[in-house]
Amino acid sequence: MSPHYEIVIGWLYPKLMSTYGDRGNVITIQRRAQWRQFNVKIVNLDSEATPEDIKSVDIIVGGGAQDRQQELVMRDLIGAKAEAMRQKLDNGTPGVFTCGSPQLLGHYYEPGAGQRIEGLGILDLVSIHPGENTKRCIGNLVIEVTATKLARDLEEMTGTKPYLVGFENHGGRTKLGKVEALGKVIYGLGNNGEDGTEGAFHQNAIATYSHGPLLPKNPFVADWLIQTALRLKYQQPILLKPLEDELAMQAREAMFKRLKVNLSNVPQPVGAS
Ligand code: GLN
Repeated sequence: MSPHYEIVIGWLYPKLMSTYGDRGNVITIQRRAQWRQFNVKIVNLDSEATPEDIKSVDIIVGGGAQDRQQELVMRDLIGAKAEAMRQKLDNGTPGVFTCGSPQLLGHYYEPGAGQRIEGLGILDLVSIHPGENTKRCIGNLVIEVTATKLARDLEEMTGTKPYLVGFENHGGRTKLGKVEALGKVIYGLGNNGEDGTEGAFHQNAIATYSHGPLLPKNPFVADWLIQTALRLKYQQPILLKPLEDELAMQAREAMFKRLKVNLSNVPQPVGAS
């Protein structure tokens, strides 16, 4: 594999948005790319960043945040920076956005107390926290990916139906508009605990309530992000060398077992025979 390929990861507000270990998503992409001899750069997309910084990245990662931090981010992510984000995601830059981040990418988030926070409106969804006395959605999460293109790609990569394991902890309930759901809930609550949907998928952007963090628990999704980013950047398909994912896959199986989730075909590691 040629070492001259480079991946630039844009990390949204690392200090304000990284609850429940979501920085693990950045580290997973970084390490899995480096293990393939790709150069990796991480650019912080925070209050110091310019719209050009946003335009320069190949993958965008955004984590969760408490309501107060979400508000600070939303006051900063406006104007030319918001426009740069919109263009990137609309044009297919891959990304993974967890919990507070998808709420920001939607039309608005209404916290349990206080003012509505306007979002970027890139994803056609709204999120409402029903009030501070309402139970939060907390616990392990298993979903089947149903977003058409992603499900097809992941199935092609792993040879089996794509299931994701994670952990959710949110007060906000999300209702989808015309955007496609990321998946359907097999175990847990997902977007709102009512309609069985989890997350959203827009172009190549994955929005989810799943911490865990998501990528170390589901390494084939990290590879999909890397592969998609490289294809877009270098305008040619670039095959990824399989990595040793046995432990991660065993951890997934242990979790399916513990949750008594009976999947007839649990995904195998990328490249497994
Ligand atoms: N503040 C949001 C909620 O409670 C997001 C929480 C999070 O990102 N963990 O719904």
